[in-house]
Amino acid sequence: MMRKDKAGKPVILFVDDEELVLKSLERLMFYEPFNVKTAGSAAEAMSLLEENHVDVVISDEKMPVKSGSEFLAEVREKYPEICRIMLTGHADLSAAVHAINEGRIFRFLLKPVDLTELVSAVNDFLDERFKSQQKLAFSQQAAGVCSLEMSISEKGEVEYLWSLNTRQMLNLDENAVLDGMDVLYSRVHPDDLQMVIENNGRCTASMYCPEIEFRIVLPDRGERWILQASDGFRRGDGKGYSIVTVFKDITDRLNQREMLHYQAYHDSLTGMGNRSKFVEELEQCLNSSEKCKDIAVMFMDIDNFKLINDSMGHVFGDWLLNSFAARLKDIIPDNVLSARLGGDEFALIIYGAAPITPEKLSLKIINDLKRPFIIENYKIHINVSIGITRHGGRDSVSVDDLLREADTAMYEAKGSDKFPVKFFESSMRDRAADIFRMTGELHQAVEEKEFFLEYQPVVDLATFRLVGFEALVRWNHPEHGLVMPDNFIPLAESNGIIVDLGLLVAEMACSQVAEWDKEKPDNNFFMSFNVSVHQIHQLDFVDKIKKIMLDSGVKPQRFKIEVTESGLMKDIDVSLKVLDEIKELGIGLQIDDFGTGYSSLEYFQRIPADFLKIDKSFITDVNNNPDKFSIVKTIIDLADSVGMRTVAEGVEKKGELSVLRQLGCDLVQGYLFDRPLRSSDAGDVKEYKQFS
Ligand code: C2E
Ligand code: CA
Ligand code: CA
Repeated sequence: MMRKDKAGKPVILFVDDEELVLKSLERLMFYEPFNVKTAGSAAEAMSLLEENHVDVVISDEKMPVKSGSEFLAEVREKYPEICRIMLTGHADLSAAVHAINEGRIFRFLLKPVDLTELVSAVNDFLDERFKSQQKLAFSQQAAGVCSLEMSISEKGEVEYLWSLNTRQMLNLDENAVLDGMDVLYSRVHPDDLQMVIENNGRCTASMYCPEIEFRIVLPDRGERWILQASDGFRRGDGKGYSIVTVFKDITDRLNQREMLHYQAYHDSLTGMGNRSKFVEELEQCLNSSEKCKDIAVMFMDIDNFKLINDSMGHVFGDWLLNSFAARLKDIIPDNVLSARLGGDEFALIIYGAAPITPEKLSLKIINDLKRPFIIENYKIHINVSIGITRHGGRDSVSVDDLLREADTAMYEAKGSDKFPVKFFESSMRDRAADIFRMTGELHQAVEEKEFFLEYQPVVDLATFRLVGFEALVRWNHPEHGLVMPDNFIPLAESNGIIVDLGLLVAEMACSQVAEWDKEKPDNNFFMSFNVSVHQIHQLDFVDKIKKIMLDSGVKPQRFKIEVTESGLMKDIDVSLKVLDEIKELGIGLQIDDFGTGYSSLEYFQRIPADFLKIDKSFITDVNNNPDKFSIVKTIIDLADSVGMRTVAEGVEKKGELSVLRQLGCDLVQGYLFDRPLRSSDAGDVKEYKQFS
């Protein structure tokens, strides 16, 4: 930093107790470009230093009250930036050398003073100082900063010391005088000026200097952002204080900040907006209520995405999400906002002005998904569930309300096998609360093993003997008592609890057979149990089942698993692989609820099942209903043609039974023979001769 007096000349202070010497020094320096001051004693010099700016102090060593070296030591203490030079006679040479070595003085000069020597000593110092100032300026410039030091005296007078590179930063010309604050203020953006002035006023008055950011406007470079940070400290002598301020051009950093802002509001995988963006947009919309009265919010997620992701790997999952997002972007018009909320959840805001209604848009999305996604030579079909809610001009509706409603509607859509789009209705709210409560209870129930099995006999139509049981799960709810599977299996499937619950069922079924076998080792009936497609898609499914059977000590050939036809078709390629492994273990396989799904013949032939289980809906009244009759006949013929056998479930009437016999069905189960039984009532090979 450059310290000059008002005339711009460096200030030199001579200190000597001999008036004559001072006079002659003054005269000597008359033509040199310095401003010269004199003091007759150390004390006088000290008070002069307090009031005035001085660059160089030149002091005689021999003085009556305080020696030159003592005085200069004091100067160094209080004003380390001032250059100190000692005048000495030959007699005091050793004291002078000592002082140099200790860094107390910059130079010493022998008396009588030689002008050339004196001027070159002063110039050496000024040169050195200038170089280090330049170095500082250079490094400040490199760091994109400039600085200002303000010295505030006891009387409140302020002295300003700007660093040299302030000129570059503020784009000032070479000759601009760096003084006061106008240097800066002339560049500050008019909208920010008052804030900057107020801040600096407070800072110099009280040393309270918070960081601020403001704009400056530069002649050629336009608007730049500056960060100003200051620190204040009291002077060593306790009189007055200094404030050092650093100004940094942060325009680039702010551009980066904009980038970060972009990242904060966008989903990196799909480039769509993210949840924050979606919520903010919705908030803004709700605040400008008029425009928002006719919006609809649409939620959608991909059915079984977790399964796909777990079984196919995350790279595949990411690819699928990205491809789905790309399709969405193609389908939705410009003024519909789309976002990925996380995972496989996507959301749209459909404004009233959009050229397509939410109904039509959802249909379009669903239709589009009939085309498979293709990667390498892999084809995958996905389904989505869609929930929609409308603002409908309601008086007080919050962002949270809309999100919750769309989510609830989506949840309902998922639960309905008919049509995967639902509009929110208020009755759904209670159901959603029930579902939430029950999900918690189910988790707990699996942990506490609140389940037990009932066993429904399966009868061979050739012999009318019991040949097996189907294990059916029941929940012994701590408050509500017995709960039937139709009331909790769909929920357990939708939230994945079925995976653990299914293993529990397999364990109970296996250990029950082991127990019965202990009493009657000759019982050779099979035990079938139901397995959800979610279980099948678990990577460790086969291993877990194998272990359960090994632990029970019962041969795998005694067991059959039942998988529903519609479940199997969901991701048939994966399913087929697992089912082959199951078959290899020796476990039987039945396709449950057959006739209700829509298996293609091509796949059907590849399923390694040994039984088709004809769904109860076709059996009921089959003797009076020609349509059902022909369906059941077709199924039995179909099974025959691929070497599978058939089981009919839900047989309640003798009439139904006789049709099944006539058509050549192999096995039957139903209330006509027995309801599902408690374990104490089951486990025997019964005969049902009365129906033959
Ligand atoms: P499902 O596998 O089709 O089981 C047959 C259902 O029909 C059972 O109902 C059974 O009690 C009932 N049923 C049997 N015979 C008759 C009859 O003659 N008339 C009538 N009206 N019903 C009959 P349940 O036990 O309520 O089970 C319902 C469904 O719950 C099962 O249908 C199955 O899909 C599921 N489920 C039961 N246990 C399990 C299990 O351990 N795991 C899985 N994943 N699902 C299970
Ligand atoms: Ca079943
Ligand atoms: Ca069934």
